[in-house]
Amino acid sequence: MQVSENTNDDFLFIDDSDEDEIFDSAIRDTWKVLIVDDDPEIHSVTKLALSDLVVLGRNLEYLHAYSGQDACKLIEEHDDIVLVLLDVVMESDDAGLAVVKHIREELKRDDIRIVLRTGQPGYAPEESVIKDYDINDYKTKTELTRRKLVTTVYAAIRSYQQIDSVTKNRQGLEKIIGAAASLLEQHSVHDYANGVLAEFKMLVNNSRGVFCARGQGIVDGADDLSLYILGQDGLSESSVNQKLTTLDDRDATSQITSCFQQKQHFFGVKYTSFYFASGGFRAVIHLELTQALTTIEKQLIEVFLTNIATGYENVHLFQKLRNAAYKDWLTELPNRLDFVNLLDDFCQSDDDRLVTALVDLNHFSDINDGLGQDIGNQLLMAVSKRIRALSDKNQLARIGADVFGIIGPKEWVNPESLSALFNQPFAAGEQNLLINASYGFCSKKSAGSRGVKVLNQINIALNLAKKSLHEPYVYYHQEMEDKTLWRLGMIRQLRTDFADNRLELFYQPQLSLATGKIIGAEALLRWKTADGKFISPAVFIPLAEYSGLIIDIGNWVVDQACQQLNRLAASKFPDVSISVNVSIPQFKRDNFVNTVIEIAKSNKVDPSKLELEITENVLMDEPQVIIDALVKLKSQGISIALDDFGTGFSSLSYLQKLPLDRLKVDRSFVSEIAEPGGSIIADTIINLGKQMNLKVIAEGIETSEQEAQLIALGCDEVQGFYYAKPMPADEFFSCLEKINR
Ligand code: C2E
Ligand code: MG
Ligand code: MG
Repeated sequence: MQVSENTNDDFLFIDDSDEDEIFDSAIRDTWKVLIVDDDPEIHSVTKLALSDLVVLGRNLEYLHAYSGQDACKLIEEHDDIVLVLLDVVMESDDAGLAVVKHIREELKRDDIRIVLRTGQPGYAPEESVIKDYDINDYKTKTELTRRKLVTTVYAAIRSYQQIDSVTKNRQGLEKIIGAAASLLEQHSVHDYANGVLAEFKMLVNNSRGVFCARGQGIVDGADDLSLYILGQDGLSESSVNQKLTTLDDRDATSQITSCFQQKQHFFGVKYTSFYFASGGFRAVIHLELTQALTTIEKQLIEVFLTNIATGYENVHLFQKLRNAAYKDWLTELPNRLDFVNLLDDFCQSDDDRLVTALVDLNHFSDINDGLGQDIGNQLLMAVSKRIRALSDKNQLARIGADVFGIIGPKEWVNPESLSALFNQPFAAGEQNLLINASYGFCSKKSAGSRGVKVLNQINIALNLAKKSLHEPYVYYHQEMEDKTLWRLGMIRQLRTDFADNRLELFYQPQLSLATGKIIGAEALLRWKTADGKFISPAVFIPLAEYSGLIIDIGNWVVDQACQQLNRLAASKFPDVSISVNVSIPQFKRDNFVNTVIEIAKSNKVDPSKLELEITENVLMDEPQVIIDALVKLKSQGISIALDDFGTGFSSLSYLQKLPLDRLKVDRSFVSEIAEPGGSIIADTIINLGKQMNLKVIAEGIETSEQEAQLIALGCDEVQGFYYAKPMPADEFFSCLEKINR
């Protein structure tokens, strides 16, 4: 028996044209009706009267209470009771009314429908009670014919259903408003996607969900148009940012793909996919449902999608802004700023196998200058692609023009793996370029506690690697930093002490073995710090070179030497010469040669009395530049000596091209000269000098045996502690008075 007349007009505002779809039999297949009456007979009669009734597709299910108190208890226990058929008079005259009050006032259940029944007409409640407590019907038992009961129950359940729809609708809309507002606050696509799925979970009861869209521009390294999982619910967090195909569920992936391509929702038995788009940004929300969606749910989802679409467009715009701040425009890799964030995570990680490294391409600027920026860019792309292919466990960033940063397990991030990447040439345009790189490493256990700090650490290691002649890589350890700090402190002190005139030149006499007279002096720098300590030039000259201070200091040395030459010219010893040491960075200055010539001229010295000592190593970088510079100095009459000869790496063919006057035999060869078989190198150098028509001076003579051996080898000149240590200028003049008398 199905009853269709509608006796209740109160809820006509809800759209019920499609009522078969409005409720869903899968959600609840019965309506729970509570029969409350102290007369058991009434219970069975009622059940009998309603036995075949199907209301809106569902059967009725009964609960029975025989007193008002029992009724209240059952209502509390069963939150899915939709209708109470309630006797008014039971244990007391108004026991039924007490139940009504309990339902409405205490339990605050406004949705439960109530039909009051009474045996005696005189117990009808006040009209106001019927109104205030929203009682559907009041009937005496005799009034209630079977047909009337059926109609009453039908109308009551239907009104329950409408109230329920309105409530759900309202709650759903409230959720949507809240959800859309909170999703608008999300700034990352990932948070947004997960947020959307979380809100979906509140709207419908899905077991799993994924948020999919194209990865390009959102997922690191997504270089094609594939769909990626941007958010998940019920899967694992590691599935996020992976290609959709990793989902390993054919039905789901094919439904998602069709949904994206056909730009429409797909409702399947097990799966449902919602398509949505805003401002050209498209996505699919895919849900694995436990129950099919009701029409209300579908309608709510539609409203929800419209509300959150703007949020989706927003997160893309945020992502773009973020990318501008954190991404390298060329390679789309994280930039330096973002690498510091990644390093922060590295610091927080408790994975001890992690290593971070910087990879610096050698001579990249030559390629950029020589072959053009386009080729340079293509080379960088090719390099980043190859490093990226090393392992997907690594994180890669481009942190400078030709510097890449990597974080990854030590199996991948190590000198062997990284340098092996550079064994093959890189394709850039038409070119196949073979390049190599320098590497700075820092393992997790040596790393500091913050990203910026670690970046500094790998930078220190990289700088050392770039200078290293042996290996192109260096691992950071704490002493390096201590050394760096010490060096920076020393450089600071050297700078102020130089400005405060704390540097001094000492002069070490050079003698002719033939006459025993002083023929010259080597000017040697001395640094006496404010606390009276002497710091060896072997220590501070490299620092002065490193910091560039050597330029000013070097010019000052030449000037000081010239002043002493003038003093010599005016003394009884005008033929005595002075030699000064010159470092590589000085030569690298364009105006070095002119500056020396100018200083000599302004001091009005005889240029032939001024000698510059260079070491073989100055030839290492750009021999022709050095040769040209020396030729120019030589043309002005300035003498050139090759210092520490035999300890460097210069080729003899270059030696021939140098406009030299003297060779200096290094102290290391002199010190072994008196031992058996120890004179071979000194002998060779002395002979070489003779053949090339150069004077030869031996350094570091400390004993008479060494002197005797040098005389036997035919050496011309000597310098060493055996004759005199380096001394202040005034002492040198006294020394001259004594020896050259
Ligand atoms: P160098 O040019 O080879 O200078 C010779 C070094 O040998 C000096 O050390 C000198 O004191 C030391 N020496 C001389 N005779 C003996 C000896 O008989 N026994 C021993 N054990 N040592 C002897 P110093 O003054 O410590 O200078 C070290 C180096 O610092 C110099 O080596 C030179 O390369 C550099 N240097 C010194 N002054 C200057 C300067 O004004 N400019 C530049 N660029 N370098 C300088
Ligand atoms: Mg020297
Ligand atoms: Mg020397």
